[in-house]
Amino acid sequence: MSTLNYDVVVLGGGTGGYVAAIKAAQLGKTVAIVEREKLGGTCLHKGCIPSKSFLRSAEVYATMNNSEEYGVSASSIELHFEKVQDRKNKIVNQLHKGIEFLMKKNKIDVFYGNGRVIGPSIFSPRSGAVAIESEIEENNKTLVPKNLIIATGSRPRVLPNIEVDGHFILTSDEALDMNELPKSMIIVGGGVIGVEWASLLSDFGVDVTIVETEKNIIPTEDEQISKELERLFKKRKIKILKNAMLLTESVNTEEGIVKVKVKQKDSEKEISAEKLLLSVGRQANVENLGLENTDIKVEKGFIKVNQYLQTTESHIYAIGDVIGGLQLAHVASHEGILAVEHAAGHEVQPMMMQNIPRCVYTRPEVASIGWTEQQAKEKGFDVKTASISFKAIGKALVYGSNDGFVKVIADKNTNDILGVHMIGPHVTDYISEAGLAIVLNATPWEVGQTIHAHPTLSEALGEAMLGVDGNAIGI
Ligand code: FAD
Repeated sequence: MSTLNYDVVVLGGGTGGYVAAIKAAQLGKTVAIVEREKLGGTCLHKGCIPSKSFLRSAEVYATMNNSEEYGVSASSIELHFEKVQDRKNKIVNQLHKGIEFLMKKNKIDVFYGNGRVIGPSIFSPRSGAVAIESEIEENNKTLVPKNLIIATGSRPRVLPNIEVDGHFILTSDEALDMNELPKSMIIVGGGVIGVEWASLLSDFGVDVTIVETEKNIIPTEDEQISKELERLFKKRKIKILKNAMLLTESVNTEEGIVKVKVKQKDSEKEISAEKLLLSVGRQANVENLGLENTDIKVEKGFIKVNQYLQTTESHIYAIGDVIGGLQLAHVASHEGILAVEHAAGHEVQPMMMQNIPRCVYTRPEVASIGWTEQQAKEKGFDVKTASISFKAIGKALVYGSNDGFVKVIADKNTNDILGVHMIGPHVTDYISEAGLAIVLNATPWEVGQTIHAHPTLSEALGEAMLGVDGNAIGI
């Protein structure tokens, strides 16, 4: 077994891990990354990118089926799902090669294998350092870093009594590899992943039923946004059972379809579909990492870190899905940069969770930042709000997608922007404008004074900002 010394070792090559590795290399550190599957992790192979590729194909299909609205007639529109899969795989492969190239370019050593922490280390002269064991082919190697970054991500959470068999019962992992589309699907969980799948499957012509335990789908979003998405989904014949609990022991696939019982208030009903997709959250990958060889604490299933992402072993950082919070790719990558800079002794700004944009890529999209109206009120803010409908926005009419609205929440006393919540066409592409405004501590009036080109969809944001003080022009 050979031992190699590095300044930084990153355990896990997903979005958080590979970005951290690149940042460390850019700061002149010697860096290794250990990955047991493929560089790119969940986001590239099982999450953001493949699901968005499916969503785009579904949107094109839905638009073609509705092309008369644009004065375009199309006959014999056919869906070739295997080509939808091919397109997704090509995009993923291209981006995967890009990450491999970046590793080489930045002289980062990549070790493929399962990484496990085996110290605070006897191998290192520096007290408290950590060694990683990586099973690479037959030659195990021990990597001894000055700083370790744990970025081992997460996996789909499953429910007791339900076996994910990959045929009848799927998680998002298996769903991305389906060879053909089912005619019907029950989606258990109306959170972000569940509603994205509901949107794309429905656009592909699949009969979808969402089962959600909370009183709203996407329950962490502003209630008005959740309700608008529900309204638009129902218009598309997506069935939504709210306050509804799947009775896990009732799952039955004996007749070649999935039959389940759902409890709502005091009544129970049976629903059935060709397949069932479990989207009930993500579980952190904290097992078999050798954490027992350290003082690192795991709380409620996530690695515990401080505001600088240091674990209870101060030279070991943890970032991304494995520490919980907002499990998003841009959170993981930003945390990766922050951890590396902190380890390098730079002054860093801790993550401000309320300044992180949250995007849902349904049709239409949802994007938000900051507090919901309910949260702002609960925190004691005296709020003023304004909403602008996309029906008033020329570009949205031209685009053929004018459902939804932009809602701005501001503090009556300080004029601070407390939250921005949007549902409508391409809102994920301009939520960053609201993010910039919040980071720069701009007032709604200042954002409204920024000249928004016409016709653009972001005019809705400018107008909603002005609307907070009754100054919207009312385009
Ligand atoms: P991961 O990307 O999970 O990477 C962890 C890596 O560590 C993996 O490659 C794994 O193989 C490796 N690993 C684990 N244990 C070990 C070990 N012991 N040794 C070696 N390697 C190990 N987020 C967004 O921001 N936008 C989206 O649109 C979006 N869409 C999503 C859609 C779906 C269906 C899903 C499931 C997720 C989506 N996400 C999205 C979430 C996003 O994918 C994650 O937040 C992000 O991937 C987290 O990055 P990470 O680096 O923390 O972990």
